[in-house]
Amino acid sequence: MKIPKTMKRLCKTCKKHTEQKVAQNKKKTASSLKRGSKYRAKLRGVARGVGGLGRYSKPAVTKFKRTGAKNTKKTDLRYTCTVCKKTSVQKTGIRAKRVEFK
Ligand SMILES: [Zn+2]
Repeated sequence: MKIPKTMKRLCKTCKKHTEQKVAQNKKKTASSLKRGSKYRAKLRGVARGVGGLGRYSKPAVTKFKRTGAKNTKKTDLRYTCTVCKKTSVQKTGIRAKRVEFK
């Protein structure tokens, strides 16, 4: 899908149409040591009990879950206003294999 680099759209802060830069949001990688994760609790000695806490003796997720069933991803576009430098997020993404800025 081809998307223009700049678009004229409504800025909520300026309350008028301004020139806005378009960018695809980069996906952040998930950490296994986040707060609230079972692995972190196990390392700290908080998750006590017998066995693998229901996760360490299972096959790989790709073996029993339908992971990778879709081959397209929804776009996650961010619009940055060139006047006030505020960034707004698009409402709903459109499914596309590849996003290209022209
Ligand atoms: Zn603005």
